[in-house]
Amino acid sequence: MSGTILIVEDETRLADVLEEYVRREGFKTERARTGTRALELWRAAAPDLILLDLMLPEMDGLEVARRVRAESSTPIIMLTARDDEVDKLVGLGLGADDYVVKPYSPREVMARVKAVLRRVQGAVVVPQALRVGAIEVNLSSFEVHVAGESVPMTTAEVRMLGLLAKEPSRVRLRAELLEQSGGTDSYADERTVDAHIKNIRKKLGLHGDLLETVRGVGYRLRGA
Ligand code: CA
Repeated sequence: MSGTILIVEDETRLADVLEEYVRREGFKTERARTGTRALELWRAAAPDLILLDLMLPEMDGLEVARRVRAESSTPIIMLTARDDEVDKLVGLGLGADDYVVKPYSPREVMARVKAVLRRVQGAVVVPQALRVGAIEVNLSSFEVHVAGESVPMTTAEVRMLGLLAKEPSRVRLRAELLEQSGGTDSYADERTVDAHIKNIRKKLGLHGDLLETVRGVGYRLRGA
């Protein structure tokens, strides 16, 4: 297995041990001692998994998990100090992929890391959701999520948004988008596309401005 693991732990000694084990298994590592730094590194390094300590200075692990989940499905394994915390954490529905209670054996942590990655990477066989910023388009289930919330859209809208999300920043001509909307009848002209785009933008709410008009050419979804 390969990839990058982000280790978020404020106790240097624990972080050292984890890092050693993680590297020994062939992964690259990034390290953060605070929640704020963890989010910065998460954005900059796009790790394949986050090992996240719960008690951190500045911003705790709960808040870090919440912010990561608002935008992505990066696997998270929570490191917690007490057994009885796990039930509480699961109850909060943070979307962590697994929990390990301290004191843990690094070997156990590695086993969980591999299990989570196997699960996640196995799921890649199914067409993955396309993600641009807070927008997620799933072309197999025809679902759209914005900042984690399901947003109902018509099939034509999902297909058009999917085309735009496939290559963020690439401008799509109205004709290309029209094809996605299934508009084969002769009345389906460029105005149909404009109408669909207007609806999509409205449904994207606060994130609607990611869908940009390129005057005289078409539309694009601005990469985050
Ligand atoms: Ca800690």
